[in-house]
Amino acid sequence: MAIFTVVCVAAACAGDGDAVITPESTLAPDITSPTSATTPAPTPAPTTTPATTPTTPETPTTEVDEVFRSTSVGDPRYPTLGTAGIDVEHYDVALDIDPTSGRLDATVRISGTFTVATDQLSFDLDGPTVRTASVDGDEVDATVEGRDVVLHLDDVRDVGDGFVAEIAVTSRVEDGPSFGPDAGVFVSDDGLWSVNEPDGVSTWMPVNDHPTDKATWTFDITVPTDVEAVANGELDDITVSGDSTTWTWRQDDPMASYLVLLLVDDYEFVDDGEIELSSGTVSLHHVVLDGRRDDLEPYIDVTRRQLEFFDELFGPYPFDRYGLAIADSQPGLAMETQGLPLFSVADLDGSLGPLQHLLLAHELAHQWFGDAVSPATWDDIWLNEGFATYAQMLWFDEIGMSTIEREAELALRSLPDDGWPLSAPTELFGTVSYNGGAAALHALRLTIGDDDFFALLRRWVVDHDEGTATTAEFERVAEEVSGRDLGDFFDEWVDSPDGPPDEYPASATEDG
Ligand SMILES: [Zn+2]
Repeated sequence: MAIFTVVCVAAACAGDGDAVITPESTLAPDITSPTSATTPAPTPAPTTTPATTPTTPETPTTEVDEVFRSTSVGDPRYPTLGTAGIDVEHYDVALDIDPTSGRLDATVRISGTFTVATDQLSFDLDGPTVRTASVDGDEVDATVEGRDVVLHLDDVRDVGDGFVAEIAVTSRVEDGPSFGPDAGVFVSDDGLWSVNEPDGVSTWMPVNDHPTDKATWTFDITVPTDVEAVANGELDDITVSGDSTTWTWRQDDPMASYLVLLLVDDYEFVDDGEIELSSGTVSLHHVVLDGRRDDLEPYIDVTRRQLEFFDELFGPYPFDRYGLAIADSQPGLAMETQGLPLFSVADLDGSLGPLQHLLLAHELAHQWFGDAVSPATWDDIWLNEGFATYAQMLWFDEIGMSTIEREAELALRSLPDDGWPLSAPTELFGTVSYNGGAAALHALRLTIGDDDFFALLRRWVVDHDEGTATTAEFERVAEEVSGRDLGDFFDEWVDSPDGPPDEYPASATEDG
């Protein structure tokens, strides 16, 4: 996510109309430090969850005579999120949305497998009213317990058994709230938009809301015929019925729930053909507000160049589609929604300066770092944000807008005294995880050399594609690729509660 541009853009827009940010200033602390208002507060520990909190992910929560009952995957930062003991394979999401009233009906059919023996299913749900619930076609009792909806089964299901749960809920998207501290669905003048990182999806539909349980998705979104509805993946079908239209989107690549995109407004779809990358043929499809097609023009070419640049640096682009979704959403906020990142029309307004280059590079890089490889816990957020921030610095270097040395130096000088360690930062979306993560990567590059560093990034994605990974796993892969003991390096740059050193290490490969 490029939440840091909330401040960035506020600064850029503070001038008389043509103010731009410079590459240097994008890394200055007053530019990149998110305000506290934009930083979601960590979810407090559960108070009503009956189960005890597990200490490690995927650990069942409660054991009762061999029956496990879980309402958490044990994320240390968000202990209420997710459910251990199930593996969701597919979400079939039917939405009926009235943008005028904000009413949002969601009927979600969740197919998966039990990985423990249990007599209940629980999904994250924070706010919506449950209308009906069934499992394998039979109506079941559903209770809302804290931030979960729990479906009570009349018998114990075994490890490996499949399930199909269907839950219908209703919520109302209120006018007024914006992203930070809330995540979820928000109102625009003529529609809705969403940013769901880290826990927003479960504010409007039931879901196993943690990156450790990726699944494929289908979205059938019914809206009035005068607007369009957009979600991740391929637009599979459009069905008009009376004065409403159902838009069917299919996401066949496994996707974490926080990467779900939901947009409703007056949109145009722009087909930009295909591009040949090392991963194969990637099709390019953009979404712009009706009448704003011309504003997209400068970004089409930049996107193609960035795809080629990052595909070479980071290894094969992980998906078979890419595009930009430019919405009437919150200025200064961009989100790496899988395959179709979200940008505000206030930021991608047709101009092409440092801010636009930064946003486009950052959200594209997240497709490798965040989307293909997702954080195993939310404490590992620097594996997303540090990498995407370093990628935007690499892009500035590539196009001659700055140099990687200068960007890295500015990142290091921007770092705060507090909020460490990088491996468990105080703020999820703060300068520590963005610039601190980028600085750690630059220091690692200097330590192990360019060849091993970029080999490591490529290996990282190959090893963990379609999955999740931890900081400890990154250290292990870095040691494998470089053949070095990096314990001291990670102690200093990643795990230190006092933050990293003031200076970068000497380059391993340069003469001077
Ligand atoms: Zn980001």
